[in-house]
Amino acid sequence: MNEIFNFSAGPAMLPKQVLKQIKEELYNWNNMGASVMEISHRSLEFLQLIQDAKKDICDLLDIPENYAVLFCHGGARAQFSAVPMNLLEKSSDNVDYVNTGYWAYSAATEAKKYCNPHVINVIKIKNRLYNIQPMSQWNVSTNSIYIHYCPNETIDGIAVYETPSFPEKIVVADCSSTLFSCPINVSRFGIIYAAAQKNIGISGLTVIIIRKDLLKEPNRAVPSILNYKILFDNGSMFNTPVTMSWYVASLIFKWLKQQGGLKEVNKRNKEKAAFLYKAIDSNDFYYNNISPSNRSCMNIPFFLKKNKLNDLFLKESTRFGLCGLQGHRTAGGMRASLYNAMTLEGVQKLVEFMQLFSEKYR
Ligand SMILES: *Cc1c(COP(=O)(O)O)cnc(C)c1O
Repeated sequence: MNEIFNFSAGPAMLPKQVLKQIKEELYNWNNMGASVMEISHRSLEFLQLIQDAKKDICDLLDIPENYAVLFCHGGARAQFSAVPMNLLEKSSDNVDYVNTGYWAYSAATEAKKYCNPHVINVIKIKNRLYNIQPMSQWNVSTNSIYIHYCPNETIDGIAVYETPSFPEKIVVADCSSTLFSCPINVSRFGIIYAAAQKNIGISGLTVIIIRKDLLKEPNRAVPSILNYKILFDNGSMFNTPVTMSWYVASLIFKWLKQQGGLKEVNKRNKEKAAFLYKAIDSNDFYYNNISPSNRSCMNIPFFLKKNKLNDLFLKESTRFGLCGLQGHRTAGGMRASLYNAMTLEGVQKLVEFMQLFSEKYR
């Protein structure tokens, strides 16, 4: 069977090596005579898995001592609620939400249930391209408790590459589609969260990195399973965790270390993205609408100038061995997600197809 390359935005492809390992140990994990899905989350073997996974996360991201790693349910959207519920002292507290696109705006919308978020619009259009204002120009409130932003907009394909520097603020970041794709300076953040199904593993799990001074008993009634302090005090096992997702993530962290860590992975991600953007820019059959300095390395939307050919493009690309290229329903067009697991070979195959298709239907 010819290899099929999967460009899905999430749930997304996993490294072949990891899939193989899951298959090999499915019936008998760690010599326990059962699969990892069938054993207690409190067994010594599973507790070891979680301890190792936490250590791998800390190694990969170079996390300072004063931070904790938590695992949660409910994807990133659960954090859209958990963040304001845990951090707000009262509903009249001021909070900033930076609007860069679909996900950042969704987080702000959810926060409206708990407070009156100040939404900062930072997207500008210049020469018909979307770009994000530099952080120094963000209209951050003087008295806000925290500032929330999304470094990589999975749907819009727009990214903030600046490292935040808001020393008086708690910086909260939805890193669902960018965490573990590149090194980050964790010390600049109060809370980083990421749903697993983009770059960490499979859905169900959210990884949270939180500065320990924020692990306080919240001022309001927060469901225990979303209460950061309770999660921390219980080793993220206040209730039964998503064990299979934790297991897959633990394999991904090991795989990332084998790849040479995040610096190396980032180098490859940049190469892959540059290769695809060049193919889009150099062929007037296609276009991308993000300014080069804010183009995402992870999620690359592109459009056909003859958009009547969209369905045909998708049909023929499937036959060519490419899948998951349909753009998000709100954005239209195409989108290629190039997470860590995507190989340069896969991107080359996509570019080859784009060239052939444009010659055929020009
Ligand atoms: C996918 C995604 C989400 C939503 O994640 P769920 O796990 O479906 O809740 C939120 N934010 C970003 C940036 C995402 O990419």
